[in-house]
Amino acid sequence: MTAIAFVGLGHMGGPMAANLVKAGHEVRGFDLVPELRDAARTAGIEIAESGLDAVASADVVITMLPAGRHVLAVYGTDDAPGLLQAARPGTLFIDSSTIAVDESRLAAASAVAAGHRALDAPVSGGVVGAENATLAFMVGGADDDFEEARPLLEAMGRRVVHCGGSGLGQAAKICNNMILGISQIAVAEAFVLGERLGLSHQALFDVASNASGQCWALTTNCPVPGPVPTSPANRDYQPGFAGALMSKDLGLAEQAIELTGIDAKLGRLARAIYGEFADGPGAGEDFSGIINTIRAQSVDANR
Ligand code: NAD
Repeated sequence: MTAIAFVGLGHMGGPMAANLVKAGHEVRGFDLVPELRDAARTAGIEIAESGLDAVASADVVITMLPAGRHVLAVYGTDDAPGLLQAARPGTLFIDSSTIAVDESRLAAASAVAAGHRALDAPVSGGVVGAENATLAFMVGGADDDFEEARPLLEAMGRRVVHCGGSGLGQAAKICNNMILGISQIAVAEAFVLGERLGLSHQALFDVASNASGQCWALTTNCPVPGPVPTSPANRDYQPGFAGALMSKDLGLAEQAIELTGIDAKLGRLARAIYGEFADGPGAGEDFSGIINTIRAQSVDANR
């Protein structure tokens, strides 16, 4: 049994912390939102007075927060003490939020400077994965810290991959989601083009899913209703993975593209396309709903 502090008990953090309790760990948690604290208490999490109170007696601290600025703020500095200053020396800090690679490295370096150890361990698999303990973890940090964290991550997920040193879990996450964002747009454009050419959705699916166009965006997240009955297109594009989250992750990818100077034209374009999508009704829709924008913005060939 490990004494774990869990800070951020939202859509993802709440069920993740509950799975740690189910696995027999002692979890003290905190969230700013009173209703989330009540829900977590019902799931067996001991609720602390504050984040600082939660970490004071912990061996491991897990954060699941909206963005990098929240992680850096709660970690704290010598001038504005936070979790790093409140924890016992040598505590293992695991940040599972999705944040920029450079912010992640900064957070880890601050943890080490304060006498602790740190891993970045972002996830994929969404709220369903968090609830069912089927998340995929992408982990950056030292080998021995990874081995110590592994059983805890396995209590919350199905796949745990050590991607390398500090920040490389976040790097894997944004690279994967850049592939995903670009390929979902490509699949959606192909279906709209097929429609215009008189090709049925099922015929295109039957060909592409068995040919070189095969990809997750087609065979699992098919953007039209019918060929894959479980895809969000069959339930009016309820997420799934919301457009707002895809836009956020592509923003982080773009930040990394800027920093590294690579020639990622499609990554930048996907960021712009999903940015616009998420500024409209797409924020709360599954990101495969981008097909409706493509259809709506296509020129009427018969005009
Ligand atoms: P969320 O907004 O539901 O949860 C974040 C929680 O952090 C909120 O409840 C908020 O009150 C809390 N919080 C913020 N500042 C705090 C502080 N100082 N102290 C304590 N609590 C604080 O977000 P989420 O959907 O759970 O996502 C969390 C992270 O996981 C994000 O970085 C997101 O990008 C990533 N992620 C989300 C999904 C998803 O499907 N929701 C999938 C993969 C990754």
